[in-house]
Amino acid sequence: METINVHVQGCYIDGEWKVSADKSRLIEVKNPADGSVLAYVPRTDKEEIDLAVKAARKAFVSKEWKTTKPYNRGKLLYKVAEIIRENKEELAKLETLNVGKPLAQSFADVEVAALYFEYYAGVADKILGETIPVQPGIIDFTVREPVGIVGHIIPWNYPLQITARSIAISIATGNTMVLKPAEDTPLTALKLVELLEPLGLPKGVINVVTGYGHEAGAALSSHPDINHITFVGSLETGKKIMESASKNIVPVTLELGGKSPQIVFADCNEEQALEWVLKAIVQNSGQTCTAGSRLVIEKSIKDHFIKKLVVAMEGLSIGPGLNNYDFGPIISQKQFNRIQKFIDLAKQEGIRVVSGGTRQMVKGCDDGYYLQPTILDDVPYDHLLAQEEIFGPVISVITFETEDEAIEIANSTQYGLSAGIWTQDISRAHRITDQLQCGQVFINHYGAGGGVAQPFGGYKKSGFGREKGLEALRNYTQLKNVALKFSE
Ligand code: NAD
Repeated sequence: METINVHVQGCYIDGEWKVSADKSRLIEVKNPADGSVLAYVPRTDKEEIDLAVKAARKAFVSKEWKTTKPYNRGKLLYKVAEIIRENKEELAKLETLNVGKPLAQSFADVEVAALYFEYYAGVADKILGETIPVQPGIIDFTVREPVGIVGHIIPWNYPLQITARSIAISIATGNTMVLKPAEDTPLTALKLVELLEPLGLPKGVINVVTGYGHEAGAALSSHPDINHITFVGSLETGKKIMESASKNIVPVTLELGGKSPQIVFADCNEEQALEWVLKAIVQNSGQTCTAGSRLVIEKSIKDHFIKKLVVAMEGLSIGPGLNNYDFGPIISQKQFNRIQKFIDLAKQEGIRVVSGGTRQMVKGCDDGYYLQPTILDDVPYDHLLAQEEIFGPVISVITFETEDEAIEIANSTQYGLSAGIWTQDISRAHRITDQLQCGQVFINHYGAGGGVAQPFGGYKKSGFGREKGLEALRNYTQLKNVALKFSE
């Protein structure tokens, strides 16, 4: 390892920027808008992951970290929020360059990143225990202690937001951490730690290690000295992470995919429903775990609603995120091909593609993969296209005639992340909410994951454990019960 040079972005271990001297051990980071190379980052493996975990352990047991008052950890997090806002242009631009999303969406992500820090700043000195009335003469109480070293494995779709929430809660709870951003989108995570350097956090509290999933990710999730793993990504990788964590008896939080339904009734406020059904599938080009990828709609209004949805979709501008078009590229050729296969399957099986469905060439961006947002009409609810996470701007339309049928369809996939309900009948909205098997329900709006205070996570194969809000504190703390006898 040697110190970083200008063209290569190093990773951050034990308070130092490191980059491999071996140029064959670098990963090319691309701009999805046009396929150009943005930077190179180290392709780390077991050895560097071990260094990062050791640094995090050293920081965790250090007197300096152990004796930092919770209030001061909170103050530090407030400062991070300030730094993020002061650098919002740079962060937003970098997020757009690396992820491809429209600049306006990146600015929104930057603000959410700042909000995570503020939210958990306020929480840092309010992580309370309980007293338990066991018997006279004994005072019994609980303390919530940090778990130790947290391994965070970050996906490519919301790198800045997820890095921010990972760092914010880990520091608020007094842990130290090793973060591994996705190989496609490591740049804002690295930029964020660079911006935080002047705060003078003890070395090793935050380590950011770049690399491929099967190498760096696997080494991190199987490292024997990690105390908790937080993973956001695919179901398949989630299973691997659980398997390796099980060998070390390490708890995991898994936020996996979804096939979230937008359940639209004939009595909905049509304008409102249309706006959000559209947003929920085009945001970040549909590469969102809570994408509203199934439109479960009452048969009587389907044709009319779809006509309007097609007009709205076809009115979207498509192009590089930096120019702030409505709709940016798909993250990579690999993901584009994966999505295209689903669309081809629809065509082969006679499912009607009523809008989009093909690659859109954008001038000057021949190596960018732009896909027209796509509507697949009358998809049988149990068809692969209504069951599998496509992770692109593709919505499958499924009709129902009764409330019971709507619920059955909504619950019919292996996933259970989010759902939207669109109706003016509030009793019905509650009846349905009661029966939905998912971690978040939005009634007459849709929040794609919700705000920083709203617990977020899945039922069924969408994962377990909750991020965001106070609920997430459970993942990052462990409970100690203390019983003190003070009289006979
Ligand atoms: P992935 O699950 O493979 O990658 C997510 C993160 O896990 C990345 O940081 C990656 O490097 C890491 N990783 C990969 N293999 C690993 C392993 N064996 N051990 C430890 N870490 C590992 O996702 P992907 O291949 O980038 O995308 C494939 C599909 O995953 C998408 O089409 C989509 O369906 C899903 N996905 C979901 C989300 C989400 O927000 N839930 C995010 C990204 C991808």
